[in-house]
Amino acid sequence: MYEATAHVVGAALDGVKRIMKGDCKRTFQPIGGLHHARREHAAGFCVFNDLGVVVETLRAEYGVKRVGYVDIDVHHGDGMFYPFESDPDLIYADIHEDGRFLYPGTGTASETGKGKAQGMKLNIPMMPGSGDSEFLKVWPKVETLLRDKPPELILFQCGADSIAGDPLAHLQYTPAAHAHAAKRLCLLADELCEGRIMAFGGGGYDRNNLAKAWSGVVRELLL
Ligand SMILES: [Zn+2]
Repeated sequence: MYEATAHVVGAALDGVKRIMKGDCKRTFQPIGGLHHARREHAAGFCVFNDLGVVVETLRAEYGVKRVGYVDIDVHHGDGMFYPFESDPDLIYADIHEDGRFLYPGTGTASETGKGKAQGMKLNIPMMPGSGDSEFLKVWPKVETLLRDKPPELILFQCGADSIAGDPLAHLQYTPAAHAHAAKRLCLLADELCEGRIMAFGGGGYDRNNLAKAWSGVVRELLL
């Protein structure tokens, strides 16, 4: 487990290096986006948090200050939210199934960041059964936040467990939701941060859903 999850982090850091060197602008890493792991412990199928390591590495090694993080996995990205809750330079937007019905039980709309980071975080809980129309209704809030606080690079956690039929959760998106988010985030990255966007697969427990959602995301990244 240690080796496997270390490779996940290593792949993410390879992506960071390629983007920051200017070899490419967009990356996709299917096994990645382990958004429940904390600095001090594993959680929710996640041992090391590759996303958090990416943020810290961008700052320590590349002088990047403000990073955008967008998460449409069905689960709240608690491992990216709480460690950065008071950090005004991690711009956070997370659309997930309401924590009253699903692990990890967090991510209410009132959690908008603490101290200097107040207003830099957006949590949007969705009721079980919500589909593409509900998703598209709230999505513009994500774009508004990123435009208000333009990041230097966007991280996108595109978990496919928010698609209808996932055995662990209860949202009803189609893969069109993931494709829409990918398309809009690529446009935003072009507008705000020289096109730099890293996409990570995240969760997803139905293989057909994984294939459809992530191939849709890759299609947008390749355009
Ligand atoms: Zn998930």
